[in-house]
Amino acid sequence: MTPIFANLQAVGARLDGAARAAGRPPESIRLLAVSKTKPAEDVVAAVAAGQTAFGENYVQEGCAKIGQVADLLAAQGTPTALEWHFIGPLQSNKTRPVAENFAWVHAIDRLKIAQRLSDQRPAELPPLQVCVEVNVSGEASKSGCAPEEALALCQAVAALPRLQLRGLMAIPAPAEDEAAQRLPFRRLKALFDQLQQAGLPVDTLSMGMSHDLEAAVAEGATLVRIGTAIFGPRIKKEIP
Ligand SMILES: *Cc1c(COP(=O)(O)O)cnc(C)c1O
Repeated sequence: MTPIFANLQAVGARLDGAARAAGRPPESIRLLAVSKTKPAEDVVAAVAAGQTAFGENYVQEGCAKIGQVADLLAAQGTPTALEWHFIGPLQSNKTRPVAENFAWVHAIDRLKIAQRLSDQRPAELPPLQVCVEVNVSGEASKSGCAPEEALALCQAVAALPRLQLRGLMAIPAPAEDEAAQRLPFRRLKALFDQLQQAGLPVDTLSMGMSHDLEAAVAEGATLVRIGTAIFGPRIKKEIP
């Protein structure tokens, strides 16, 4: 068993435990394996352990890795359909390769980006699945739209022809203990409930990372984005 295989099992056990503690079915939470800065071989090791959904943060690195992983899997005789999620911040001049190569985008924080992604989504692909990122930590965070703007932005995104709005995403500022970690997640869940009450067909609450997945699951996460706990610490310096 590879270390990545064992780590995936351990993360699965954490998710099961958190779901049970929250009285939720474990199948109601999807695991996104965040492979940013990690080589294609690590993704292949995770695929061998049954993982099929992966998250990337950087456009060039992500697009290159999608091709490399497909080549490696084909070369070993196990071509596998994978689902690639772009979870990083996105500049408007870099939307096209994301619209062409990814199935999901998690960090939509303004309409201009969503419009470009919709315009650039190739006709032969299914609609791009998207989440709107909300800043639920106030001053402590720079990314995401303001909570007051979330409903209007979601309504505008849902109206774009080549996007399918799936829900909300947040990256809260780090907090000391689980009680403090749960507060911003609870705020995101409340906004999510508002979207549903407004009639938007959303089903995805993308929240929770390696250090706070239990808190996120307790507050209703339906998708957790886990990097370090699966692939180990990131050594390579991250591009801001
Ligand atoms: C890097 C990253 C993750 C994974 O973080 P870990 O702490 O390594 O689990 C999740 N979400 C986003 C948006 C990230 O950039």
